[in-house]
Amino acid sequence: MDSPTSPPVLIGRDLTKLYGSVRALSGVSIEISPGESTAIMGPSGSGKSTLLQCLAGILPPDSGRVQLGDTVVSELSDARRSRLRRERLGFVFQDGQLLPELPANENVALPLLLAGSSRAGALRAAEHWLERLGLAGLGGRRPGEMSGGQAQRVAIARAMVHSPAVVFADEPTGALDQATGHEVMQILTTTTGMSGTTLVVVTHDRKVAGWCSRLVELRDAMIHSDRLLTGGEAG
Ligand code: ADP
Ligand code: MG
Repeated sequence: MDSPTSPPVLIGRDLTKLYGSVRALSGVSIEISPGESTAIMGPSGSGKSTLLQCLAGILPPDSGRVQLGDTVVSELSDARRSRLRRERLGFVFQDGQLLPELPANENVALPLLLAGSSRAGALRAAEHWLERLGLAGLGGRRPGEMSGGQAQRVAIARAMVHSPAVVFADEPTGALDQATGHEVMQILTTTTGMSGTTLVVVTHDRKVAGWCSRLVELRDAMIHSDRLLTGGEAG
């Protein structure tokens, strides 16, 4: 476990993002410690997805700085940023993120194959992760041949397979019924927690936020509150 004094793994400083005249982020600063799980909540349109995308190097902020470890993400070219995302970050989105024509094990193996791993090694690692997520034996199925909850577990396996520094999830259970959604979120928080992987998750579900160690609430493009959770209190 990292001690509370470890330097932050991810820093966003004074992030601003405008869409035309709409201010999506207005001077947001946040520091995230290694191993922390941060839930981002707030009303629709408050800037949650924009913040996640800026922190994850998907969207360049108009001003401000994003730093992952020693790398200043906000100063990288588009190509370097996509490489950093591929190699050092994991993503779980609402749906539609798995390649429909590939079986689950190849979907999971993809980040390793793109990083140059051997096919056999990547598939072995993929099977290991599928097993950890309760999907042993389902590696040959295509996403369309699985339930929504199973497909999201495949997406979690793919987000974890290359041991990313941070996993980002934007309303990962938004397309699932509540019970399945809670199951998937519990799997996501325990999986990242057990491997010490930092998690940043946007959710509208207080119960989901309660499984995280920190809750950041946005209002009108700014941080409204930011507190550590001791467990059970946000539910
Ligand atoms: P949230 O995820 O909290 O619902 P977003 O970060 O998606 O909020 O959006 C913040 C604000 O920016 C909203 O007013 C939204 O309409 C606007 N916005 C987001 N993305 C775009 C875009 N691509 N083009 C124009 N406006 C956008
Ligand atoms: Mg959003």
